[in-house]
Amino acid sequence: MSVKISLPTALRRYAAENDTLQVEGQTVGQALARLVEQYPDLQRHLFTEDGRLRHFVNVYVNDEDVRYLQELETPVKEGDEITIVPSVAGGGRTPSDGGPSPIGERAEQVRLSPEEILRYSRHLIMPEVTMDGQRRLKAARVLIVGAGGLGSPLALYLAAAGVGRIGIVDFDVVDFTNLQRQVLYATHDVGQPKLQKAKERLQAINPHIEVETYETRLTSANALEILREYDVIVDGTDNFPTRYLVNDACVLLGKPNVYGSIFRFEGQASVFYAKQGPCYRCLYPEPPPPGLVPSCAEGGVLGVLPGIIGAIQANETIKLILGRGEPLIGRLLLLDAWRMQFRTVRVRKDPRCPMCGEHPTIRELIDYEEFCGVTPEPVLAEELEITPRQLKEHLDRGEPIFLLDVREPHEWQIAHLPGAKLIPMNRIPASLHELPTTDEIVVYCKTGGRSAQVLRFLYNAGFRRIKNLKGGIDRWAVEVDPSVPRY
Ligand code: ZN
Repeated sequence: MSVKISLPTALRRYAAENDTLQVEGQTVGQALARLVEQYPDLQRHLFTEDGRLRHFVNVYVNDEDVRYLQELETPVKEGDEITIVPSVAGGGRTPSDGGPSPIGERAEQVRLSPEEILRYSRHLIMPEVTMDGQRRLKAARVLIVGAGGLGSPLALYLAAAGVGRIGIVDFDVVDFTNLQRQVLYATHDVGQPKLQKAKERLQAINPHIEVETYETRLTSANALEILREYDVIVDGTDNFPTRYLVNDACVLLGKPNVYGSIFRFEGQASVFYAKQGPCYRCLYPEPPPPGLVPSCAEGGVLGVLPGIIGAIQANETIKLILGRGEPLIGRLLLLDAWRMQFRTVRVRKDPRCPMCGEHPTIRELIDYEEFCGVTPEPVLAEELEITPRQLKEHLDRGEPIFLLDVREPHEWQIAHLPGAKLIPMNRIPASLHELPTTDEIVVYCKTGGRSAQVLRFLYNAGFRRIKNLKGGIDRWAVEVDPSVPRY
């Protein structure tokens, strides 16, 4: 049997950048075994050491989640498609129950002014919205976690649509590299707190709404208190600890969680509402090990992608408030913006889910950094580090130094240090023979994180004359050579 396997972006680099592959096999297990034979680097990403599928990897056969069938034993037929869906830094439809209930009661007390009626006229004349629906929107309270790429379009559309109270949690300032996708902010906002700018922008779009800001990191200590005030929670975060925190808090409080995640040109969206369907833990019981799935800062993201996924989250939020339409409860929407393909796969409620299953074992918020295995990187010994200024002095004195650039080739194209050699990080283990054993090696990347990992690897491989360039080529550009472009 020849079947097609679709690989997600995050795994394509371990399979020679292929997005689909044809393999032979009678079962899912056989097909995946063939895949791993061809691309052995995929083994540790897909399977545990005892040969089971990893928990943060979901496998679908023609849109059916095989975890609840026989998983690897699931038979496949000629022409079937196996889709691998890992969690990224992200049932059956249940008929709507009229939306989160307190909105209906509050909506009865709400009136629209003549000015608001004019503003929302394109909604009011839709039979799916009408005056009743618009009053529900005005009575609704929506919390957006994260005012970044997803939070920007979300907040803009929810404000324009007339959601009466919008809360936003974030603690960042606007960075120059945010402007490529975070459309809430303007160039002159760089350096300003995001929430202050977001609030100004939203109130300028719609003065009839209230914007509540929480300039803090969402934690187990404050999450329940903040989320409790809202009817719908929208997850626009970019890290796993906060995703699990938002999920668990929503399950404990009985709130719907509108989920979205993005990576390069791939997006996911769903609505996790444990009262009616699965939660995020039903889909991804465990996070991937830290460092396995790159963040947008490391892996990049197409600027328009959060616009699309954020707008989909806004759309789902509005349907939940109206209590109408078909929400993405129990369905996971997958977008490949490069091939422009949308698909939805079913997600079932896991009866063994520790959060929303039949016998939940988690009854309060936990330590999510620990759950996700996020521990601060051990500090490198001082003698293994070199600052850009020190490196410049050594080079000026003509000392023999082997400059090792461990970034990706497209980063090298933007800028690199003269005389450096490029060996991308994931090729280092196979390229040790290309490294000198006598000259000193200075390893660098963009800001010093990846190079520190490489340094530890080289140290364990026996290299001793090695140093990490502190702050990477970025700090070199600031302190030594301003003609080197920063990115
Ligand atoms: Zn669950």
